[in-house]
Amino acid sequence: MYSKEIEEFIQQNKYPNFSPKAIFFDMDGVLFDSMKHHANAWVKALHKMGLPFTEYEAYMNEGRTGASTIDGVFVKTHGRIATEEEKNNIYRLKSELFEASGKTEQIAFALELLEKVKAQNLEIFVVTGSGQASLLDNLEHNFPQIFHKEKMVTAFDVQHGKPHPEPYLMALKKSGVQPWEVVVIENAPLGVESATEAGLFTIGINTGPLDPKVLSDSGANIVLSGMEELYDRWNKFSENWS
Ligand code: MG
Repeated sequence: MYSKEIEEFIQQNKYPNFSPKAIFFDMDGVLFDSMKHHANAWVKALHKMGLPFTEYEAYMNEGRTGASTIDGVFVKTHGRIATEEEKNNIYRLKSELFEASGKTEQIAFALELLEKVKAQNLEIFVVTGSGQASLLDNLEHNFPQIFHKEKMVTAFDVQHGKPHPEPYLMALKKSGVQPWEVVVIENAPLGVESATEAGLFTIGINTGPLDPKVLSDSGANIVLSGMEELYDRWNKFSENWS
């Protein structure tokens, strides 16, 4: 299963083979079922400032830094980017609304997949545009013995958020592996774009309300319906690695 996708990936990138040593996990919508809370908080915070924004737009912008999302809304509404003060005010409000939305659940089957990956002796990294302290702090608590602070790339590590490739290039640097030795798990179109721009094999899992086509259009090598399907197919997928 997936030998065709792997072969295409090797050829397109002119890589010697595909031999994963590390798995890069996005966080929101991949490990935590947090996107509905983020989307809701964005809509409320921007509406409060008189700026039009929909939950659909929140999902389409997922992966951007807060500042970049706010600038996008300002350009669309006012024809200019936001001032630092506007960005700080809106992002603070958005974060408060997010924190008030209650406990964030894990994505079903995320822990099971992480344990499977760990048992295969593969390195596990988190690559997220998020700077939401509560979620980052909760990673180690929610997924015990899986994550380590030095194996994370967050909003605090990069200049450019997704869809820029910098977050995934940074993860390559931190992990010391080659681009043909990585699998990325992403749920958002801009996250898929960032990972594929960095030259990485990317599995898009559609855990939100978007049409799965947006994930394949963004360049995902494989698109699946969600984490459960990925968990079910993982063994068959890894049988095709060299
Ligand atoms: Mg995500």
